[in-house]
Amino acid sequence: MDDRALIAAAREAARHAYAPYSGFRVGAVVVDADGKAYSGANLENSAYPSTVCAEAAAIAHAVSSGARKLDTVAVACIDADEIGYPCGNCRQMMVEFGVDRVLVDGPDGHVEHTLEELIPHGFKFAE
Ligand SMILES: [Zn+2]
Repeated sequence: MDDRALIAAAREAARHAYAPYSGFRVGAVVVDADGKAYSGANLENSAYPSTVCAEAAAIAHAVSSGARKLDTVAVACIDADEIGYPCGNCRQMMVEFGVDRVLVDGPDGHVEHTLEELIPHGFKFAE
């Protein structure tokens, strides 16, 4: 799946978001080291801290399906008119599974970042 298709898949995943409080439907697609894609969408909760981000949902989907090394995360919010970057918690989750690059949809097309650009010095136990 090329980058444009990943962003399109993330936008499609956003259609399944549960976002009655913020109104921002976010979708994410994670691609593992074997090229397999896993989607997720944000699911909000009336107890706000119980909310799960789309990226976290997609990572949980991938890891619970057996993936351990993730290469790419594509994120799209279909209700925002500006670019919406992953939150700090999701960036740290990406560090755990070795994500290399992050594609973020925006009004003028997507932008690409390395994970190192988004979270320099992410936490990891010494290997
Ligand atoms: Zn997040």
